Amino acid sequence: MKSKKIEKKVSSADKSAKDHRELGVELDLFSFHEIAPGAPFWHGKGMIIWRELEKYIRKLTDREDYQETSTPVLVKTELFKKSGHWDHYSENMFWFKNPRDEKEILALKPMNCPESTLIYSSRTRSYRDLPIRLAEVTDRLHRNELSGTLGGLMRVRQFTQDDAHIYCRTDQIEGEITKLMDIVKEFYANFDMLLSFNLATRPDKAMGDPKLWEEAEKNLENVLKKTKVKYAVKEKDGAFYGPKIDINVTDSQNREWTIATIQLDFQIPERMGLEYVDEGGKKKRPVMIHRAILGTFERFIGIILEHYQGALPFWLSPVQVSVLSINDKVLKYSEDILNRLRTDGIRAEIDLRNETISKKIREAEMQKIPYLLIIGEKEVETKKVAVRERGKGDIGQKTIEEFLKIAK
Ligand code: ZN
Repeated sequence: MKSKKIEKKVSSADKSAKDHRELGVELDLFSFHEIAPGAPFWHGKGMIIWRELEKYIRKLTDREDYQETSTPVLVKTELFKKSGHWDHYSENMFWFKNPRDEKEILALKPMNCPESTLIYSSRTRSYRDLPIRLAEVTDRLHRNELSGTLGGLMRVRQFTQDDAHIYCRTDQIEGEITKLMDIVKEFYANFDMLLSFNLATRPDKAMGDPKLWEEAEKNLENVLKKTKVKYAVKEKDGAFYGPKIDINVTDSQNREWTIATIQLDFQIPERMGLEYVDEGGKKKRPVMIHRAILGTFERFIGIILEHYQGALPFWLSPVQVSVLSINDKVLKYSEDILNRLRTDGIRAEIDLRNETISKKIREAEMQKIPYLLIIGEKEVETKKVAVRERGKGDIGQKTIEEFLKIAK
């Protein structure tokens, strides 16, 4: 993906709502330290959210026949000169002379696209091989944002995208964009956020054949119509290298965020000399589609933390269940319950401290844990657990099997 600006409309934002930085400290998810400007330190609980998102993205991309790739973080600047990024983008990059070889100038990659094309062109591609979908979900990217503009997870210097580049023929554009729209809708259905789409069309200074542009814009608009989503056309707002669909979400505080874009690119295939062999044995240029579903992990986690005010859905909660003992006569049974939960794949913790149960409940509720299982002598006797659900309070006594059914 190319750089994208943060669009944030604080229209009717709730004044009492907490900032993700505050939530990050309270829930022990991440921290920032002066020695690493614009780069978060991820704590154990924060990494659970990250890993769950990554797992979900991988589930979708595996199903949709992507190949996951990984490319070097440190590369020679020649690559970005060839791809065209150096002219527009070098001041946003971190780059340096190799102290052991002054002639070698290296850069930390600010995006995955140019290197992705090297995997594409590492072998001869036939029209039958296309589309080729190359994903990158683990590679760290670096952009030299001014220190004054850095802000928590929303604006960082080091970040990770759920990135992918799809190489296809022009007759495959519509099919690929349709798949991307479906995957975006499927993903966001999990987050109670309203989606809207903008179609950005050909700017005055555009590169590539105007006919190709017209055709591609028609493809994008057809898909938007077919998938029956709310969208607006932003005339001349496309990148100079191709038209795009911007994906916006509206969060619980009625703020709109541009999370990601689906961009067509006619330029990089040209500059990087990408080819495939058509039916007649002739060499042709593929089209490249840049896409990300959640954008960057850092910013997306910041957005959902504020959207849910820390009370994340069960599948993303770092701790899903906490077992709270009422006194030390129930320790053994409480530990048995903990083990049973963990055996069933639930992320559970236990609070056996010699504190009042009301204090334990209060503290666990502050941590926004979805379920609390309270264990007293009555629960030991009846072989049950007393369940408290986040936002609902006491939902009664259940056997552990009954509880597991509810939780899953
Ligand atoms: Zn890209």
